[in-house]
Amino acid sequence: VEATGVVSMHFEPIVGDPDPIGVLALGWNERAEALSEHVAGAVRTLAAEAAIALERAALLASLEASARTDDLTGLPNRRAWEEQLPRELARARRERHSLCVVMLDLDRFKDFNDREGHQAGDRLLKLCAASWANQLRATDILVRYGGEEFSLVLTGCTLADARVLVERLRDVMPEGHTVSAGIAAWDGMESPAALVGRADTALYDAKRAGRDRIVSATNAVG
Ligand code: GH3
Ligand code: MG
Ligand code: MG
Repeated sequence: VEATGVVSMHFEPIVGDPDPIGVLALGWNERAEALSEHVAGAVRTLAAEAAIALERAALLASLEASARTDDLTGLPNRRAWEEQLPRELARARRERHSLCVVMLDLDRFKDFNDREGHQAGDRLLKLCAASWANQLRATDILVRYGGEEFSLVLTGCTLADARVLVERLRDVMPEGHTVSAGIAAWDGMESPAALVGRADTALYDAKRAGRDRIVSATNAVG
């Protein structure tokens, strides 16, 4: 009242489906009588329009969020990764942070699926995601890259820091399971694709060397 000088107000509920989702507030600087039926009708129409607009905006936001989320684990998905990694690199460049990318791939997951069934495989994926998420800082981004592959962006992390973290992820693997990882430190110049490519090559080297281990990528060439 002090800020606006309003002396009369009318509040019209904005009713969603089924709950009230807002209030349309009208104010007058002079004392106003009750609304005429004509004006009251117009206000109800406005409130109904507002309800539609608000619900549509909420629906759109939830669709956008689900398009970037993996249903099984609740982690961000590959699409989110493709959008976020370039942003994280740009931020690291601006703020002169170091940054590492990690590619993780469960070992012999197909055998486990074949032996224990697809549902047990799904449970293992969920369990790994949840156990790992517990080990991360708020700024670390863990993504389900696809299948039994996960990826991580670690900002403000050197290769040595990243190794320590990934060792922790190995430590919290569910009993009887192992994971291989490839780590690459961003060189400050290379593209997201080149950085991920180096981490992927390191992961491949970890698999070839016998799995259940971490390999750090060699420096970018050129
Ligand atoms: P490696 O140690 O070389 O990584 O062997 P691997 O068996 O883990 O790798 P491979 O790529 O041969 O098999 C991956 C398996 O992951 C095959 C596929 O059926 C399974 N998979 C992919 N997505 C899902 C999923 O969402 N749920 C389940 N249960 N299995 C999945
Ligand atoms: Mg794989
Ligand atoms: Mg695998």
